Amino acid sequence: MFKYVFLVCIAISTRAFGADQFKWPEQYKAAVSLGYDDALISQLNNAIPELNRLGIKASFYLSLNSPTLVSHLSQWRLAAQQGHELGNHSLFHQCRASKPDREWVSADNDLDKLPAKSYVQQIRVASNYLNAIDNNTRRTFTAPCADVKAAGEFYLDQIKTLFVGIKSKVVQQPIDNMLVENPYAVSFIAPYDVTGEALVALVKQAANKGTMIHFTFHGIGGDYLSISNQAHNTLLRYLSEHKQTLWTDTFINIVTYMKKEQRRLGIDYDTQPVANSFK
Ligand SMILES: [Zn+2]
Repeated sequence: MFKYVFLVCIAISTRAFGADQFKWPEQYKAAVSLGYDDALISQLNNAIPELNRLGIKASFYLSLNSPTLVSHLSQWRLAAQQGHELGNHSLFHQCRASKPDREWVSADNDLDKLPAKSYVQQIRVASNYLNAIDNNTRRTFTAPCADVKAAGEFYLDQIKTLFVGIKSKVVQQPIDNMLVENPYAVSFIAPYDVTGEALVALVKQAANKGTMIHFTFHGIGGDYLSISNQAHNTLLRYLSEHKQTLWTDTFINIVTYMKKEQRRLGIDYDTQPVANSFK
């Protein structure tokens, strides 16, 4: 009888403390990562100074054919030294021309024509190049244009062992369920031409759900697919003012924690094909 009461108490306390549920570290309610793609000059000039001023770490996904890799290499290296993540965004940023609104994809940069094997080799070289900049071997990847097929072949399973995590699904809302989120097919929101208030509203949704939100920005106060400096600063200020409850960090740090917590709960996406998450 005693034993039975004891076991019931354990069962109740386990549920009460949510040990069987996904939990963020410390007192955090949700996680937020800020990603900036394509190695744009406005990110160096406008985003990084503001991030540094508020002590926020972010992830920069460099496509290595960007002109800024030559003209501003020391600044990218400095960003890594300041604690920002330099992520892999491929060598040449090929995208699938056959998808809607892809008139801008040139014939020589068409991912529909590039064999997956060649693309994977290029992605490997991109990681080596990034290693020469920041000396890191652990890295994450954001799929250019969120395209997951090269010449018709699904390629994420061929690169998953190269990366800690991969962002490869564009969505409009924060993530609903931390347990069904595959670390090699993480969803992200790619806002442009929006207000800071709209960005803050998305963060609040993630906080209410207790999940996470990953932003992928392009231009900040310039370049293309931009948000204004004002919108960017509004979001950063909100994150800074709520740093007790919102864990804003690099994607690599958040996805590393997410995998550990998923494993604690018996889920290991390393042993499953990434393709399953696209069915
Ligand atoms: Zn891109």
